[in-house]
Amino acid sequence: MNLETDILVIGGGSAGSLAAIVAKEQNPVANVLVIEKGEIHRSGSIAMGMDALNIVVQPGITTPELYINSALIATDGILDYKPSFVMAERSYSILKRLEGWGIRFPTDEQDKYLSLQVHAKGKFLLEMDSPDLKLVLAEKLKEAGVKILNRTMVTSLLETNGKIHGAMGFNLRTGEFVVCSAKATILANGGCARFSLPNSGYLYGTFDYPGNAGDGYSLAYRAGAQLTGFEYTSCSPLIKDINCPLLYITITRGAKVINAFGEEIELEYLSTQTMLKELREGRDPIFIQLSHLPEERIQEIERILFTTERPIQKRFWENRGINFRDGLIELGITEYQLCGGHGLTGIVVNEKTETTLEGLFAAGDVACVPLQHLTGAFVFGEIAGENAVAYARKTQHKKISESVINDEKQRLFNILDEEGNNSKITVREFEYKVRRTISDYVVPPKNERKLQQALWWIPRFRNEMKNIQVRDYHELSRFEEIKFILDCMELSVYAALERKESRWGWFHYRTDYPQQDDDNWLKHVVLEYGKKSGEPQTTLVPIKTKED
Ligand SMILES: Cc1cc2nc3c(=O)[nH]c(=O)nc-3n(C[C@H](O)[C@H](O)[C@H](O)COP(=O)(O)OP(=O)(O)OC[C@H]3O[C@@H](n4cnc5c(N)ncnc54)[C@H](O)[C@@H]3O)c2cc1C
Repeated sequence: MNLETDILVIGGGSAGSLAAIVAKEQNPVANVLVIEKGEIHRSGSIAMGMDALNIVVQPGITTPELYINSALIATDGILDYKPSFVMAERSYSILKRLEGWGIRFPTDEQDKYLSLQVHAKGKFLLEMDSPDLKLVLAEKLKEAGVKILNRTMVTSLLETNGKIHGAMGFNLRTGEFVVCSAKATILANGGCARFSLPNSGYLYGTFDYPGNAGDGYSLAYRAGAQLTGFEYTSCSPLIKDINCPLLYITITRGAKVINAFGEEIELEYLSTQTMLKELREGRDPIFIQLSHLPEERIQEIERILFTTERPIQKRFWENRGINFRDGLIELGITEYQLCGGHGLTGIVVNEKTETTLEGLFAAGDVACVPLQHLTGAFVFGEIAGENAVAYARKTQHKKISESVINDEKQRLFNILDEEGNNSKITVREFEYKVRRTISDYVVPPKNERKLQQALWWIPRFRNEMKNIQVRDYHELSRFEEIKFILDCMELSVYAALERKESRWGWFHYRTDYPQQDDDNWLKHVVLEYGKKSGEPQTTLVPIKTKED
Protein backbone atom coordinates (compact mmCIF):
# COMPACT_ATOMS: atom_id res chain seq x y z
CA MET A 1 0.00 0.00 0.00
CA ASN A 2 1.51 3.35 -1.03
CA LEU A 3 0.15 6.32 0.88
CA GLU A 4 0.76 10.05 0.81
CA THR A 5 -0.28 12.35 3.64
CA ASP A 6 0.49 15.85 4.87
CA ILE A 7 0.83 14.79 8.50
CA LEU A 8 1.67 11.28 9.61
CA VAL A 9 1.09 10.43 13.27
CA ILE A 10 2.70 7.19 14.45
CA GLY A 11 0.74 5.85 17.44
CA GLY A 12 -2.89 6.59 18.21
CA GLY A 13 -2.70 6.78 22.01
CA SER A 14 -3.13 9.91 24.11
CA ALA A 15 -0.51 12.12 22.45
CA GLY A 16 -1.13 10.84 18.92
CA SER A 17 -4.88 11.38 19.18
CA LEU A 18 -4.47 14.99 20.31
CA ALA A 19 -1.82 15.63 17.66
CA ALA A 20 -4.07 14.39 14.86
CA ILE A 21 -7.20 16.20 16.10
CA VAL A 22 -5.34 19.49 16.50
CA ALA A 23 -3.63 19.13 13.11
CA LYS A 24 -7.09 18.92 11.54
CA GLU A 25 -8.30 21.90 13.58
CA GLN A 26 -5.33 23.94 12.37
CA ASN A 27 -5.76 22.97 8.75
CA PRO A 28 -9.05 21.20 7.95
CA VAL A 29 -7.99 20.48 4.36
CA ALA A 30 -4.75 18.79 5.38
CA ASN A 31 -4.55 15.01 5.12
CA VAL A 32 -3.85 13.60 8.56
CA LEU A 33 -3.17 9.89 8.98
CA VAL A 34 -2.66 7.92 12.20
CA ILE A 35 -0.87 4.59 11.92
CA GLU A 36 -1.72 2.54 14.99
CA LYS A 37 -0.29 -0.84 15.92
CA GLY A 38 -3.35 -1.84 17.92
CA GLU A 39 -6.98 -0.78 17.54
CA ILE A 40 -7.58 2.89 18.19
CA HIS A 41 -10.58 2.41 20.53
CA ARG A 42 -8.53 0.59 23.15
CA SER A 43 -4.85 1.06 22.34
CA GLY A 44 -2.15 2.61 24.47
CA SER A 45 -1.70 3.51 28.12
CA ILE A 46 -5.32 4.60 28.37
CA ALA A 47 -7.15 1.44 27.44
CA MET A 48 -10.28 2.59 29.23
CA GLY A 49 -9.94 5.89 31.08
CA MET A 50 -7.90 7.64 33.74
CA ASP A 51 -8.80 8.75 37.23
CA ALA A 52 -6.68 11.90 37.30
CA LEU A 53 -4.93 14.49 35.23
CA ASN A 54 -1.69 14.47 37.17
CA ILE A 55 -0.43 17.96 36.39
CA VAL A 56 -2.80 20.91 36.20
CA VAL A 57 -1.82 24.45 37.10
CA GLN A 58 -5.03 26.18 38.17
CA PRO A 59 -4.91 29.95 37.72
CA GLY A 60 -4.91 31.68 41.10
CA ILE A 61 -4.12 28.47 42.97
CA THR A 62 -0.77 27.18 41.68
CA THR A 63 1.76 28.47 39.16
CA PRO A 64 4.01 26.98 36.47
CA GLU A 65 7.00 28.21 38.51
CA LEU A 66 5.85 26.20 41.54
CA TYR A 67 5.41 23.17 39.30
CA ILE A 68 8.99 23.56 38.02
CA ASN A 69 10.28 23.74 41.62
CA SER A 70 8.43 20.54 42.39
CA ALA A 71 9.57 18.79 39.21
CA LEU A 72 13.20 19.76 39.89
CA ILE A 73 12.96 17.91 43.20
CA ALA A 74 11.41 14.84 41.58
CA THR A 75 14.03 14.73 38.82
CA ASP A 76 17.04 15.58 41.02
CA GLY A 77 17.61 18.58 38.76
CA ILE A 78 17.77 16.75 35.40
CA LEU A 79 15.10 18.84 33.73
CA ASP A 80 15.13 21.42 30.95
CA TYR A 81 13.11 24.43 31.99
CA LYS A 82 11.12 25.40 28.91
CA PRO A 83 9.27 22.21 27.90
CA SER A 84 8.10 21.57 31.48
CA PHE A 85 7.14 25.23 31.90
CA VAL A 86 5.12 25.23 28.68
CA MET A 87 3.39 22.00 29.71
CA ALA A 88 2.39 23.47 33.07
CA GLU A 89 1.32 26.74 31.44
CA ARG A 90 -0.97 24.98 28.93
CA SER A 91 -2.30 22.34 31.33
CA TYR A 92 -5.41 24.28 32.35
CA SER A 93 -6.52 24.79 28.78
CA ILE A 94 -6.16 21.03 28.22
CA LEU A 95 -8.49 20.46 31.15
CA LYS A 96 -10.98 22.88 29.58
CA ARG A 97 -10.71 21.11 26.21
CA LEU A 98 -11.44 17.77 27.91
CA GLU A 99 -14.39 19.25 29.79
CA GLY A 100 -15.70 20.51 26.47
CA TRP A 101 -15.58 16.90 25.28
CA GLY A 102 -17.72 15.77 28.22
CA ILE A 103 -14.94 14.53 30.52
CA ARG A 104 -15.91 15.20 34.14
CA PHE A 105 -13.55 16.75 36.67
CA PRO A 106 -15.34 16.45 40.04
CA THR A 107 -15.75 19.59 42.17
CA ASP A 108 -16.53 20.29 45.86
CA GLU A 109 -19.41 22.30 47.33
CA GLN A 110 -17.59 25.56 46.46
CA ASP A 111 -17.31 24.41 42.85
CA LYS A 112 -13.55 23.93 43.20
CA TYR A 113 -11.87 21.06 41.39
CA LEU A 114 -10.95 18.17 43.67
CA SER A 115 -7.17 18.15 43.86
CA LEU A 116 -4.75 15.82 45.59
CA GLN A 117 -1.18 16.25 46.81
CA VAL A 118 1.19 13.85 45.08
CA HIS A 119 4.01 16.22 44.19
CA ALA A 120 6.63 17.50 46.61
CA LYS A 121 5.12 20.98 46.34
CA GLY A 122 1.67 22.11 45.27
CA LYS A 123 -1.58 20.28 44.61
CA PHE A 124 -1.33 19.71 40.86
CA LEU A 125 -3.24 16.45 40.51
CA LEU A 126 -6.90 16.95 39.65
CA GLU A 127 -9.35 14.09 39.97
CA MET A 128 -10.93 13.03 36.70
CA ASP A 129 -13.96 10.85 36.16
CA SER A 130 -13.57 9.33 32.73
CA PRO A 131 -14.00 5.58 32.35
CA ASP A 132 -14.51 6.11 28.59
CA LEU A 133 -11.74 8.57 27.82
CA LYS A 134 -10.19 6.41 25.07
CA LEU A 135 -13.54 6.01 23.33
CA VAL A 136 -14.05 9.78 23.49
CA LEU A 137 -10.66 10.34 21.82
CA ALA A 138 -11.52 7.82 19.10
CA GLU A 139 -14.84 9.58 18.48
CA LYS A 140 -13.13 12.99 18.24
CA LEU A 141 -10.62 11.61 15.72
CA LYS A 142 -13.50 10.38 13.59
CA GLU A 143 -15.39 13.70 13.85
CA ALA A 144 -12.23 15.60 12.85
CA GLY A 145 -11.87 13.50 9.68
CA VAL A 146 -8.56 11.91 10.63
CA LYS A 147 -7.72 8.74 8.66
CA ILE A 148 -6.76 5.76 10.80
CA LEU A 149 -4.80 2.70 9.80
CA ASN A 150 -5.33 0.19 12.61
CA ARG A 151 -3.22 -2.90 13.37
CA THR A 152 -0.34 -1.50 11.37
CA MET A 153 3.11 -1.42 12.86
CA VAL A 154 5.74 1.07 11.77
CA THR A 155 9.09 -0.66 11.45
CA SER A 156 11.26 2.16 10.09
CA LEU A 157 11.28 5.87 9.40
CA LEU A 158 12.11 7.26 5.98
CA GLU A 159 15.17 9.43 6.42
CA THR A 160 17.39 11.29 3.95
CA ASN A 161 20.25 13.51 5.07
CA GLY A 162 18.84 14.05 8.53
CA LYS A 163 15.33 14.79 7.31
CA ILE A 164 12.32 12.55 7.93
CA HIS A 165 9.70 12.16 5.24
CA GLY A 166 7.44 9.32 6.29
CA ALA A 167 7.57 5.73 7.47
CA MET A 168 7.20 2.09 6.46
CA GLY A 169 5.57 -0.86 8.17
CA PHE A 170 3.09 -3.69 7.73
CA ASN A 171 -0.37 -4.83 8.70
CA LEU A 172 -0.18 -7.30 11.57
CA ARG A 173 -3.09 -9.37 10.28
CA THR A 174 -2.78 -9.34 6.48
CA GLY A 175 0.94 -8.68 6.20
CA GLU A 176 0.28 -5.91 3.69
CA PHE A 177 3.39 -3.75 3.38
CA VAL A 178 2.75 -0.03 3.92
CA VAL A 179 4.82 2.89 2.69
CA CYS A 180 3.72 6.36 3.71
CA SER A 181 5.24 9.55 2.39
CA ALA A 182 4.58 12.49 4.73
CA LYS A 183 5.46 16.17 4.77
CA ALA A 184 5.67 16.05 8.58
CA THR A 185 5.92 13.03 10.87
CA ILE A 186 4.94 12.88 14.54
CA LEU A 187 6.20 10.05 16.72
CA ALA A 188 3.71 9.37 19.49
CA ASN A 189 4.22 5.68 20.09
CA GLY A 190 4.90 5.51 23.79
CA GLY A 191 7.77 4.27 25.93
CA CYS A 192 9.27 0.86 26.56
CA ALA A 193 6.91 -1.04 28.87
CA ARG A 194 8.43 -4.42 27.96
CA PHE A 195 11.89 -3.80 29.38
CA SER A 196 12.79 -6.08 32.33
CA LEU A 197 10.59 -9.06 33.22
CA PRO A 198 7.69 -8.64 35.64
CA ASN A 199 8.09 -10.81 38.76
CA SER A 200 5.05 -12.78 37.62
CA GLY A 201 7.12 -13.96 34.66
CA TYR A 202 4.37 -13.02 32.21
CA LEU A 203 5.85 -11.21 29.22
CA TYR A 204 2.86 -8.92 28.83
CA GLY A 205 1.91 -8.66 32.51
CA THR A 206 3.44 -5.21 32.65
CA PHE A 207 2.20 -2.12 34.46
CA ASP A 208 2.18 -0.01 31.28
CA TYR A 209 0.65 -0.93 27.92
CA PRO A 210 2.69 -3.91 26.65
CA GLY A 211 2.21 -2.91 23.01
CA ASN A 212 4.80 -0.19 23.64
CA ALA A 213 8.11 -2.03 23.34
CA GLY A 214 10.40 0.94 22.83
CA ASP A 215 9.38 1.12 19.15
CA GLY A 216 9.59 4.91 19.07
CA TYR A 217 12.96 5.07 20.79
CA SER A 218 14.47 2.56 18.40
CA LEU A 219 12.90 4.11 15.27
CA ALA A 220 14.19 7.56 16.20
CA TYR A 221 17.61 6.22 17.23
CA ARG A 222 18.10 4.27 14.01
CA ALA A 223 17.07 7.33 11.99
CA GLY A 224 19.76 9.42 13.74
CA ALA A 225 17.83 11.40 16.39
CA GLN A 226 19.27 12.22 19.80
CA LEU A 227 17.84 10.51 22.87
CA THR A 228 18.40 10.89 26.59
CA GLY A 229 17.54 9.60 30.08
CA PHE A 230 18.06 5.90 29.34
CA GLU A 231 19.84 5.36 32.65
CA TYR A 232 16.59 6.25 34.48
CA THR A 233 15.26 2.72 34.89
CA SER A 234 12.08 3.04 36.91
CA CYS A 235 9.72 0.68 38.67
CA SER A 236 6.83 1.15 41.10
CA PRO A 237 5.34 -0.60 44.07
CA LEU A 238 1.91 -1.67 42.71
CA ILE A 239 -0.59 -4.47 43.26
CA LYS A 240 1.42 -7.66 43.47
CA ASP A 241 1.00 -10.18 40.62
CA ILE A 242 -1.33 -8.02 38.54
CA ASN A 243 0.78 -4.82 38.45
CA CYS A 244 -2.22 -2.49 38.50
CA PRO A 245 -1.82 1.06 39.74
CA LEU A 246 -3.49 2.19 42.95
CA LEU A 247 -1.14 4.42 44.95
CA TYR A 248 -2.51 7.80 43.85
CA ILE A 249 -6.06 6.43 44.15
CA THR A 250 -5.75 4.98 47.65
CA ILE A 251 -3.04 6.85 49.58
CA THR A 252 -4.38 10.27 48.64
CA ARG A 253 -7.78 9.12 49.99
CA GLY A 254 -6.43 8.16 53.40
CA ALA A 255 -5.11 4.60 52.92
CA LYS A 256 -2.21 3.50 55.12
CA VAL A 257 0.91 1.70 53.92
CA ILE A 258 2.05 -0.91 56.42
CA ASN A 259 5.01 -3.27 56.45
CA ALA A 260 5.42 -6.93 57.40
CA PHE A 261 5.65 -5.99 61.08
CA GLY A 262 2.39 -4.06 61.02
CA GLU A 263 4.24 -0.71 61.25
CA GLU A 264 2.83 2.21 59.29
CA ILE A 265 5.28 3.59 56.72
CA GLU A 266 5.43 7.37 56.93
CA LEU A 267 5.43 9.00 53.49
CA GLU A 268 6.65 12.57 53.34
CA TYR A 269 4.75 12.98 50.10
CA LEU A 270 3.75 10.21 47.74
CA SER A 271 7.31 9.01 47.46
CA THR A 272 7.63 5.58 45.90
CA GLN A 273 11.32 5.52 46.90
CA THR A 274 10.34 5.14 50.59
CA MET A 275 8.18 2.13 49.76
CA LEU A 276 10.83 0.60 47.52
CA LYS A 277 13.36 0.94 50.37
CA GLU A 278 11.01 -0.95 52.70
CA LEU A 279 10.64 -3.73 50.14
CA ARG A 280 14.35 -3.96 49.40
CA GLU A 281 15.42 -3.94 53.03
CA GLY A 282 13.43 -7.02 53.91
CA ARG A 283 10.50 -5.45 55.73
CA ASP A 284 8.26 -6.85 53.05
CA PRO A 285 5.61 -7.78 52.19
CA ILE A 286 4.10 -4.31 52.40
CA PHE A 287 0.39 -3.64 52.16
CA ILE A 288 -2.18 -0.97 51.53
CA GLN A 289 -4.79 -0.90 54.27
CA LEU A 290 -8.23 0.57 53.70
CA SER A 291 -10.18 -1.07 56.53
CA HIS A 292 -9.97 2.03 58.79
CA LEU A 293 -11.67 4.22 56.14
CA PRO A 294 -15.40 5.02 56.17
CA GLU A 295 -17.55 2.80 53.94
CA GLU A 296 -18.25 5.58 51.40
CA ARG A 297 -14.50 6.16 50.91
CA ILE A 298 -13.88 2.46 50.31
CA GLN A 299 -16.73 2.40 47.80
CA GLU A 300 -15.28 5.46 46.04
CA ILE A 301 -11.89 3.73 45.77
CA GLU A 302 -13.50 0.51 44.53
CA ARG A 303 -15.48 2.41 41.92
CA ILE A 304 -12.30 3.94 40.48
CA LEU A 305 -10.23 0.77 40.66
CA PHE A 306 -12.93 -1.43 39.15
CA THR A 307 -14.08 0.83 36.33
CA THR A 308 -11.57 3.34 35.06
CA GLU A 309 -8.25 1.71 34.39
CA ARG A 310 -8.55 -2.07 34.53
CA PRO A 311 -11.98 -3.46 35.35
CA ILE A 312 -10.36 -6.90 35.61
CA GLN A 313 -9.29 -5.90 39.14
CA LYS A 314 -12.78 -6.60 40.45
CA ARG A 315 -12.56 -10.24 39.37
CA PHE A 316 -8.97 -10.45 40.59
CA TRP A 317 -9.94 -9.55 44.18
CA GLU A 318 -13.13 -11.61 44.13
CA ASN A 319 -11.18 -14.69 43.01
CA ARG A 320 -8.68 -14.15 45.80
CA GLY A 321 -11.47 -13.74 48.31
CA ILE A 322 -10.12 -10.37 49.46
CA ASN A 323 -12.46 -7.61 50.56
CA PHE A 324 -10.91 -4.21 51.27
CA ARG A 325 -13.06 -3.83 54.41
CA ASP A 326 -10.99 -6.39 56.28
CA GLY A 327 -8.36 -7.64 53.83
CA LEU A 328 -5.05 -6.06 52.84
CA ILE A 329 -3.76 -5.22 49.36
CA GLU A 330 -0.29 -6.64 48.92
CA LEU A 331 2.17 -4.54 46.95
CA GLY A 332 5.02 -5.82 44.82
CA ILE A 333 7.68 -4.13 42.71
CA THR A 334 6.81 -3.93 39.04
CA GLU A 335 9.14 -4.63 36.16
CA TYR A 336 11.49 -1.81 35.18
CA GLN A 337 10.43 0.39 32.30
CA LEU A 338 11.78 3.26 30.21
CA CYS A 339 9.28 6.06 29.81
CA GLY A 340 9.09 9.80 29.24
CA GLY A 341 5.75 10.00 31.05
CA HIS A 342 6.55 8.25 34.31
CA GLY A 343 10.27 8.80 34.05
CA LEU A 344 12.66 10.87 32.00
CA THR A 345 13.66 8.63 29.12
CA GLY A 346 12.99 9.80 25.61
CA ILE A 347 13.76 11.48 22.36
CA VAL A 348 15.40 14.89 22.85
CA VAL A 349 12.75 17.53 22.11
CA ASN A 350 12.33 21.24 22.65
CA GLU A 351 9.15 22.97 23.84
CA LYS A 352 7.86 22.86 20.24
CA THR A 353 8.16 19.03 20.15
CA GLU A 354 10.89 19.35 17.51
CA THR A 355 13.44 16.53 17.60
CA THR A 356 17.00 16.85 16.34
CA LEU A 357 15.83 15.57 12.94
CA GLU A 358 14.07 17.90 10.53
CA GLY A 359 10.46 16.96 9.84
CA LEU A 360 10.22 14.72 12.92
CA PHE A 361 8.20 15.77 15.98
CA ALA A 362 7.76 13.68 19.15
CA ALA A 363 5.12 13.86 21.87
CA GLY A 364 4.05 11.88 24.94
CA ASP A 365 5.93 9.04 26.61
CA VAL A 366 8.28 8.69 23.63
CA ALA A 367 9.72 12.17 24.26
CA CYS A 368 11.90 13.32 27.12
CA VAL A 369 9.84 15.84 29.06
CA PRO A 370 10.36 14.39 32.54
CA LEU A 371 7.37 13.00 34.46
CA GLN A 372 4.90 14.57 32.06
CA HIS A 373 2.19 11.88 32.48
CA LEU A 374 -1.11 12.30 30.65
CA THR A 375 -0.91 16.09 30.85
CA GLY A 376 2.30 16.07 28.81
CA ALA A 377 0.88 13.61 26.29
CA PHE A 378 -2.10 15.88 25.70
CA VAL A 379 -0.29 19.25 25.80
CA PHE A 380 2.57 18.13 23.58
CA GLY A 381 0.14 16.25 21.34
CA GLU A 382 -1.54 19.61 20.76
CA ILE A 383 1.77 21.39 20.21
CA ALA A 384 3.02 18.69 17.83
CA GLY A 385 -0.21 18.98 15.82
CA GLU A 386 0.18 22.77 15.56
CA ASN A 387 3.86 22.71 14.60
CA ALA A 388 3.60 19.79 12.21
CA VAL A 389 0.92 21.66 10.28
CA ALA A 390 3.08 24.79 10.09
CA TYR A 391 6.04 22.69 8.94
CA ALA A 392 3.99 20.75 6.37
CA ARG A 393 2.78 24.01 4.79
CA LYS A 394 6.32 24.86 3.70
CA THR A 395 7.42 21.34 2.76
CA GLN A 396 7.02 19.19 -0.34
CA HIS A 397 6.71 15.42 -0.54
CA LYS A 398 9.94 13.64 -1.22
CA LYS A 399 10.02 10.85 -3.76
CA ILE A 400 10.83 7.59 -2.02
CA SER A 401 13.39 5.48 -3.79
CA GLU A 402 12.24 2.02 -4.89
CA SER A 403 15.39 0.46 -3.50
CA VAL A 404 14.65 1.79 0.01
CA ILE A 405 11.16 0.29 -0.19
CA ASN A 406 12.36 -3.03 -1.55
CA ASP A 407 15.14 -3.33 1.03
CA GLU A 408 12.72 -2.91 3.94
CA LYS A 409 10.16 -5.23 2.35
CA GLN A 410 12.77 -7.92 1.80
CA ARG A 411 14.29 -7.47 5.23
CA LEU A 412 10.90 -8.00 6.86
CA PHE A 413 9.49 -10.79 4.78
CA ASN A 414 12.74 -12.77 4.65
CA ILE A 415 12.33 -13.22 8.40
CA LEU A 416 9.07 -15.13 7.84
CA ASP A 417 9.24 -18.89 7.79
CA GLU A 418 5.65 -19.94 7.21
CA GLU A 419 6.56 -23.63 7.02
CA GLY A 420 7.68 -23.30 10.65
CA ASN A 421 11.06 -24.82 11.44
CA ASN A 422 10.51 -26.45 14.81
CA SER A 423 14.18 -26.67 15.65
CA LYS A 424 14.17 -22.90 16.04
CA ILE A 425 13.49 -20.96 19.25
CA THR A 426 10.03 -19.39 19.63
CA VAL A 427 9.61 -15.61 19.71
CA ARG A 428 8.24 -15.83 23.24
CA GLU A 429 11.19 -17.85 24.52
CA PHE A 430 13.63 -15.47 22.91
CA GLU A 431 11.93 -12.40 24.33
CA TYR A 432 11.93 -14.06 27.76
CA LYS A 433 15.69 -14.62 27.49
CA VAL A 434 16.44 -11.03 26.45
CA ARG A 435 14.27 -9.53 29.16
CA ARG A 436 15.60 -11.89 31.82
CA THR A 437 19.08 -10.65 30.91
CA ILE A 438 17.86 -7.07 31.28
CA SER A 439 16.54 -8.01 34.75
CA ASP A 440 19.92 -9.57 35.58
CA TYR A 441 22.30 -6.87 34.39
CA VAL A 442 20.70 -3.59 33.32
CA VAL A 443 18.45 -2.56 36.19
CA PRO A 444 19.50 -1.45 39.69
CA PRO A 445 21.63 -2.13 41.62
CA LYS A 446 24.04 -1.43 38.76
CA ASN A 447 27.80 -1.50 38.50
CA GLU A 448 30.39 -1.42 35.73
CA ARG A 449 30.91 -5.18 35.67
CA LYS A 450 27.21 -6.02 35.47
CA LEU A 451 26.68 -3.49 32.71
CA GLN A 452 29.64 -4.95 30.80
CA GLN A 453 28.04 -8.40 31.12
CA ALA A 454 24.93 -6.95 29.46
CA LEU A 455 27.07 -5.56 26.65
CA TRP A 456 28.57 -9.00 26.12
CA TRP A 457 25.10 -10.39 25.51
CA ILE A 458 23.78 -7.79 23.06
CA PRO A 459 25.69 -8.78 19.87
CA ARG A 460 25.06 -12.45 20.71
CA PHE A 461 21.34 -11.85 20.96
CA ARG A 462 21.33 -9.93 17.68
CA ASN A 463 23.18 -12.76 16.02
CA GLU A 464 20.91 -15.42 17.54
CA MET A 465 17.83 -13.70 16.17
CA LYS A 466 18.27 -15.62 12.92
CA ASN A 467 17.29 -18.71 14.93
CA ILE A 468 13.88 -17.37 15.91
CA GLN A 469 10.86 -19.13 14.50
CA VAL A 470 8.57 -16.55 12.81
CA ARG A 471 5.51 -18.30 11.37
CA ASP A 472 3.05 -15.46 10.79
CA TYR A 473 2.70 -11.69 10.76
CA HIS A 474 1.86 -11.57 14.43
CA GLU A 475 5.12 -13.29 15.27
CA LEU A 476 6.87 -10.99 12.82
CA SER A 477 5.66 -8.02 14.87
CA ARG A 478 6.96 -9.71 18.04
CA PHE A 479 10.29 -10.27 16.30
CA GLU A 480 10.49 -6.59 15.41
CA GLU A 481 9.62 -5.67 19.00
CA ILE A 482 12.49 -7.76 20.33
CA LYS A 483 14.79 -5.72 18.09
CA PHE A 484 13.38 -2.55 19.63
CA ILE A 485 13.82 -3.95 23.17
CA LEU A 486 17.43 -4.86 22.37
CA ASP A 487 18.12 -1.33 21.14
CA CYS A 488 16.63 0.03 24.37
CA MET A 489 18.77 -2.39 26.37
CA GLU A 490 21.90 -1.18 24.58
CA LEU A 491 20.99 2.50 25.01
CA SER A 492 20.28 1.96 28.70
CA VAL A 493 23.60 0.19 29.28
CA TYR A 494 25.61 2.89 27.50
CA ALA A 495 23.86 5.65 29.41
CA ALA A 496 24.27 3.87 32.76
CA LEU A 497 27.96 3.23 32.13
CA GLU A 498 28.43 6.89 31.28
CA ARG A 499 26.71 8.28 34.41
CA LYS A 500 29.33 7.45 37.03
CA GLU A 501 27.26 8.37 40.05
CA SER A 502 23.95 7.34 41.63
CA ARG A 503 20.80 9.44 41.07
CA TRP A 504 17.02 9.23 41.36
CA GLY A 505 17.11 7.05 44.47
CA TRP A 506 16.96 3.43 43.40
CA PHE A 507 16.40 4.10 39.71
CA HIS A 508 20.04 4.68 38.85
CA TYR A 509 21.78 3.22 41.88
CA ARG A 510 25.38 2.21 41.12
CA THR A 511 27.12 0.23 43.84
CA ASP A 512 30.51 1.37 42.47
CA TYR A 513 29.46 5.05 42.58
CA PRO A 514 26.88 5.09 45.39
CA GLN A 515 26.75 8.88 45.88
CA GLN A 516 24.90 11.54 43.90
CA ASP A 517 27.55 13.89 42.49
CA ASP A 518 25.98 17.21 41.46
CA ASP A 519 29.36 18.83 40.85
CA ASN A 520 30.02 16.57 37.87
CA TRP A 521 26.73 15.02 36.87
CA LEU A 522 24.04 17.68 36.81
CA LYS A 523 23.86 16.97 33.06
CA HIS A 524 21.98 14.99 30.45
CA VAL A 525 23.56 11.85 29.03
CA VAL A 526 22.63 12.16 25.35
CA LEU A 527 22.82 9.19 22.99
CA GLU A 528 23.05 9.07 19.24
CA TYR A 529 23.57 6.28 16.69
CA GLY A 530 27.24 6.03 15.71
CA LYS A 531 27.13 5.69 11.94
CA LYS A 532 30.66 4.28 11.76
CA SER A 533 30.70 2.06 14.83
CA GLY A 534 27.03 1.04 14.78
CA GLU A 535 27.09 1.66 18.55
CA PRO A 536 25.56 4.42 20.65
CA GLN A 537 27.69 7.55 21.02
CA THR A 538 27.28 9.39 24.30
CA THR A 539 27.74 13.09 25.01
CA LEU A 540 27.13 15.12 28.15
CA VAL A 541 24.84 18.06 27.62
CA PRO A 542 24.19 20.88 30.13
CA ILE A 543 20.72 21.31 31.62
CA LYS A 544 18.79 24.15 29.93
CA THR A 545 17.66 26.78 32.41
CA LYS A 546 15.03 29.52 32.09
CA GLU A 547 17.60 31.76 30.39
CA ASP A 548 18.73 29.22 27.73
C1 LIG B 1 -1.85 2.11 34.16
C2 LIG B 1 -1.56 3.56 33.94
C3 LIG B 1 -2.23 4.53 34.66
C4 LIG B 1 -1.97 5.88 34.46
N1 LIG B 1 -2.67 6.80 35.16
C5 LIG B 1 -2.49 8.12 34.92
C6 LIG B 1 -3.29 9.10 35.56
O1 LIG B 1 -4.21 8.78 36.30
N2 LIG B 1 -3.03 10.40 35.29
C7 LIG B 1 -2.04 10.80 34.44
O2 LIG B 1 -1.86 12.01 34.27
N3 LIG B 1 -1.27 9.89 33.80
C8 LIG B 1 -1.48 8.57 33.99
N4 LIG B 1 -0.74 7.63 33.32
C9 LIG B 1 0.25 8.09 32.32
C10 LIG B 1 -0.40 8.40 30.97
O3 LIG B 1 -1.45 7.52 30.74
C11 LIG B 1 0.62 8.28 29.85
O4 LIG B 1 1.72 9.10 30.15
C12 LIG B 1 0.04 8.70 28.49
O5 LIG B 1 -1.20 8.10 28.26
C13 LIG B 1 1.02 8.35 27.39
O6 LIG B 1 0.47 8.67 26.14
P1 LIG B 1 1.26 8.34 24.79
O7 LIG B 1 0.41 8.79 23.68
O8 LIG B 1 2.64 8.82 24.87
O9 LIG B 1 1.37 6.75 24.77
P2 LIG B 1 0.19 5.70 24.53
O10 LIG B 1 -1.11 6.28 24.93
O11 LIG B 1 0.61 4.43 25.16
O12 LIG B 1 0.14 5.54 22.95
C14 LIG B 1 1.15 4.93 22.20
C15 LIG B 1 0.47 4.27 21.01
O13 LIG B 1 1.46 3.94 20.03
C16 LIG B 1 1.11 2.69 19.45
N5 LIG B 1 2.35 2.13 18.90
C17 LIG B 1 3.44 1.68 19.58
N6 LIG B 1 4.38 1.28 18.72
C18 LIG B 1 3.89 1.47 17.47
C19 LIG B 1 4.40 1.22 16.16
N7 LIG B 1 5.61 0.69 15.97
N8 LIG B 1 3.62 1.52 15.09
C20 LIG B 1 2.36 2.06 15.28
N9 LIG B 1 1.84 2.31 16.50
C21 LIG B 1 2.60 2.01 17.57
C22 LIG B 1 0.54 1.90 20.60
O14 LIG B 1 -0.26 0.83 20.15
C23 LIG B 1 -0.23 2.96 21.37
O15 LIG B 1 -1.57 3.03 20.97
C24 LIG B 1 -0.99 6.28 33.51
C25 LIG B 1 -0.31 5.30 32.78
C26 LIG B 1 -0.59 3.95 32.98
C27 LIG B 1 0.14 2.92 32.17
